Amino acid sequence: MSESLGSGPVRRPQTTLRHRLAELRGPASAPHPLDARALAALAANPGCRRRALLDGAGVDKAALASALGAPSGFGQSQFAFMRGNAFEAKVKADGGAELMRLLGVAEPEDVRVPDLTAAGPQGRAARTALALREATGAGAWSLLDHPMLALEVAGPPAYLEPDAVVVHPDGRWTVVEIKSFPMIDGSADAAKVGAAARQAAVYVLALERVAAVTEGASVAHSVLLVCPKDFSNQPTGSVVDVRKQLSVTRRQLARLTRVEDIAAALPEGVSFDVEACSPEQLTASVEAVPHAYAPECLAACELAFHCRDRAREAGAVEALGRSVRGELGGLTTVGAVLAAARGEAGDPDDPAVAALRRAAALRAESLQEAAACR
Ligand code: SF4
Repeated sequence: MSESLGSGPVRRPQTTLRHRLAELRGPASAPHPLDARALAALAANPGCRRRALLDGAGVDKAALASALGAPSGFGQSQFAFMRGNAFEAKVKADGGAELMRLLGVAEPEDVRVPDLTAAGPQGRAARTALALREATGAGAWSLLDHPMLALEVAGPPAYLEPDAVVVHPDGRWTVVEIKSFPMIDGSADAAKVGAAARQAAVYVLALERVAAVTEGASVAHSVLLVCPKDFSNQPTGSVVDVRKQLSVTRRQLARLTRVEDIAAALPEGVSFDVEACSPEQLTASVEAVPHAYAPECLAACELAFHCRDRAREAGAVEALGRSVRGELGGLTTVGAVLAAARGEAGDPDDPAVAALRRAAALRAESLQEAAACR
């Protein structure tokens, strides 16, 4: 089950689009799956067509960044990965008894754990939708372990896999996020909790599509975040309200330009096939797609070092941050800003130009005073 968040005129058949995206990715490369973390990052920068296209085409951005000579610092160590898996298994042990305790259910009489096995992501998403429907009408607790949800975002569907979804006897569905960062004295690193909340909001959004066609179902806008307690391996839980993240994600994803429109605007010969193209060809292809670099990309996108270098080379004020960019109005390059500050260019009635000149005068005055004191 999937539903489009985008809008617009009649579209080309999905098979044609899929074929075009496979060409862009490289026919021999398996598509890199989009996950909730990637969708949350896309939602945080909806103006970036480059990321929307690369993610929509399933390009492995980490491999592309390496081929461009600007490898990302992303990725989890094997040790952290194994530790995270062991912690998750502990949280879900005994048929979910510990998880239910964290949800405030002292002694659930019977927790159903439906089998969600099916072939391929489409099959798993269909199996999950069926299990959710059956569990909602059962009047009992159900734990869906690694369900699969589909969400169509500006192009082909993304398949998302939350750690768990709990179905309450009254038909409510709650997303469970299990993280391996610690919760110390009841609170965890705010940045990590924020990232987990954004990711969980994407799952809530995808679940709402299924709930809309499931009688008696509703999706909780609070999620259960489970982390290790203090410095132990004991799980502890915290209910996180994701209403704000949900409305931001919904709005931002709806603003994304459709992948097929971005692909249609590409010049001939563009390819992101890291096996077949030289670094020069890859660079030209990446540069053919407009980007929207901001320093926040450094924490969210594998191509950040490449895009930052290009933004700096172009003297783009975006490299200084979104708030600075907003303050500078029509001045879009560092060169234009400096010229305006020196009085060589710019409209003196423009508030940004006037502020820059005032700042330049104050700086010159301070430097003179400092020189006189020496
Ligand atoms: S790093 Fe580049 S491609 Fe990634 S979101 Fe930022 S601007 Fe877009």
